Amino acid sequence: MAKLIDGKLISAQIRSEIKEETNVFIKSHGYAPGLAVVIVGENPASQVYVRNKARACEEVGFYSEVHALPTETTQEELNALVDRLNADDKIHGILVQLPLPKHLDETEVLLRIDPNKDVDAFHPYNVGNIMIGNYKFLPCTPAGVMALLERSGIDPAGKNCVVIGRSNIVGKPMAMLLLHANGTVTVCHSKTKDLAAVCREADILVVAIGRADFVGADMVKPGAVVIDVGMNRRADGKLTGDVNFSEVEPIASAITPVPGGVGPMTITMLLKNTLTAAK
Ligand code: NAP
Repeated sequence: MAKLIDGKLISAQIRSEIKEETNVFIKSHGYAPGLAVVIVGENPASQVYVRNKARACEEVGFYSEVHALPTETTQEELNALVDRLNADDKIHGILVQLPLPKHLDETEVLLRIDPNKDVDAFHPYNVGNIMIGNYKFLPCTPAGVMALLERSGIDPAGKNCVVIGRSNIVGKPMAMLLLHANGTVTVCHSKTKDLAAVCREADILVVAIGRADFVGADMVKPGAVVIDVGMNRRADGKLTGDVNFSEVEPIASAITPVPGGVGPMTITMLLKNTLTAAK
């Protein structure tokens, strides 16, 4: 039976550390770290994420602002808001909740955010810094995975690490962080040949595909560490990962559940980045 990597518990520990550091920061600076979250439109999932982010800020003592704009907001209006937030001294981190409505250009908005306030680490300046290993901000989900590994005593150094998924927000930066931690990294995607065989070589398998129960026991080496980034909704509305937990848990040495694994870490890493930005 695998050891359960408890993302809720680890996340709570890190948040309490952030809260302590925030108290010290406020005492010495006289102001709190500030995060502005921008949401455009009525996407219900995005609205939940934004509420959770604002609540998390409050919990650790940050100042936070939510800018909820109507769906018909123009690119010029959104750009102007980002410009105002870039210039606002109370705001140290800016996050534009994606996806944006179709008529808005996400890249244009992300490029407009001051890289020093880019707490999602999506700006090419920060992406480049991650590549060369000289970073201030790490993208929240991969950083959350690294923190889970570290706090579970799992060191990627010298291990075969396989990442399934090559998105800009999860797969690619995940591979880079594992590489910086001296893992031997393979990145898989939809064109990978004999995916199961590649995955069976993994000592650490990170799955970020977006397909419920995709990874079964036939894709996992006995004793592997399995990190499930996937967040999929079943027909009954329940959240489930990309890994078939009941099949894989008996053969893995450690595994993250969904919910309660990587998910809680993402907002925690956003808080960490905001504190870093304020400092
Ligand atoms: P994405 O942009 O859709 O990327 C999915 C990746 O999976 C792509 O690289 C794709 O390959 C690959 N893929 C799809 N089908 C495949 C298959 N049959 N075999 C091998 N690879 C396959 O998704 P994402 O944004 O990275 O998110 C991935 C999952 O993580 C989603 O469930 C998402 O909800 C979840 N997520 C969770 C958190 C969190 O906080 N826990 C944060 C972000 C994302 P190609 O490139 O070849 O198309």
